[in-house]
Amino acid sequence: MDSINLLLRSKEYHIQNKRKKEKNMRINSNYENLEQSYLFSTIAKKVNEYISNNPDKKVIRLGIGDVTKPLCKAVISALHKAVDEMGVQETFRGYGPEQGYDFLREAVKKYYSQRNVELDMDEIFISDGAKSDVGNILDLFDSSNKVLVPDPVYPVYVDTNIMAGREVIFADANGDNGFLPMPDKSVKADIIYICSPNNPTGAVYNKEQLRAWVEYAKENNSIILFDAAYECFVSDENLPRSIYEIEGAKECAIEFCSLSKTAGFTGTRCGYTIVPRALGALNKMWLRRQTTKFNGVPYIVQRGAEAVFTEEGQKEIKENIDYYMANAKIISETLEKCGIWHVGGKHSPYIWLKCPNNMNSWDFFDYLLKEAQIVGTPGAGFGRNGECYFRLTSFGSKENTIEAMNRFEKLFG
Ligand SMILES: *Cc1c(COP(=O)(O)O)cnc(C)c1O
Repeated sequence: MDSINLLLRSKEYHIQNKRKKEKNMRINSNYENLEQSYLFSTIAKKVNEYISNNPDKKVIRLGIGDVTKPLCKAVISALHKAVDEMGVQETFRGYGPEQGYDFLREAVKKYYSQRNVELDMDEIFISDGAKSDVGNILDLFDSSNKVLVPDPVYPVYVDTNIMAGREVIFADANGDNGFLPMPDKSVKADIIYICSPNNPTGAVYNKEQLRAWVEYAKENNSIILFDAAYECFVSDENLPRSIYEIEGAKECAIEFCSLSKTAGFTGTRCGYTIVPRALGALNKMWLRRQTTKFNGVPYIVQRGAEAVFTEEGQKEIKENIDYYMANAKIISETLEKCGIWHVGGKHSPYIWLKCPNNMNSWDFFDYLLKEAQIVGTPGAGFGRNGECYFRLTSFGSKENTIEAMNRFEKLFG
């Protein structure tokens, strides 16, 4: 007993001594390498300024990156029911399984099997959304890994890696490749991000293109982090909604999905991540990571999420998606009429257009606000290759989308 105490005390002494020598606590200096993001604050500032100088003008926002339709009926009634259960002794629930309740994982498993992707229950992890998991998964990878990210891109991929001190290289997405970069055999990357349908461009990979990425990953022993947050917007049966529709992908890919955009859960918070057992240690490591650092999604929310996967829920969320997609069609048809180059909009709520008259994206933002009172998002905010491009979204109301596009046609038609 005494010897153990002595041992502990001497260990403590060493730790204290080491601390004294190092003097100061040291922060993660990688944060100094993050680029400041002024995108949405600059947009808000410009719009507010315009409104206060032009109070009689009606500004229409087509820059929204958030859903606007409320949760569907099936979800609301499941949420109510779960709330009531929590107030009754017999059905009250405390801590749940960190990786999610079986009822929800079962529903996800069934959802995948509809597209002939067979998953085991322990490959499915429920989370509070794709953004957290996309960041948290990096716990499993050494900081020496080289990361390949498309440009333009959802900024989370880059920033989470910068925070961990990883080297990030970019795959050019541009007009020439339809904003769908393909693997370059001469470039070696360990961690590869793919988002399809893409935010911000709305571009979608077909199976053949995804197959090339899977082959590249397997040849290089790299891992693909596949973001399927917009899978529900894919309406063509031949286009992949999950990377696991590609043979061999389970051996090289982790998939993230979310109910945020597909079922309006941006404020309710629920998503799921697939870590196949074919990835070896990673499956067990992710379970270990989650059980250590995460205590699960609220029972009530998981019951709401379960309802999304019922027949009724699927029908109802499709109505909302169809509503957004009808807006997207109005936008792309207008761009077509005006002869403006664009991608997206067919299988995505985002339309990515080339700024007319060779304007850069911030000049086009100012021009569109001043001349047509339309707010969009400058492509430059998503990366260097977004410099002369612009993102419009279909998350507005139908009436506003039509009015905005009438104004747009007057300007450019
Ligand atoms: C909106 C979005 C998500 C979803 O994030 P949540 O945290 O689930 O709300 C994930 N990836 C991309 C590219 C997105 O645009």
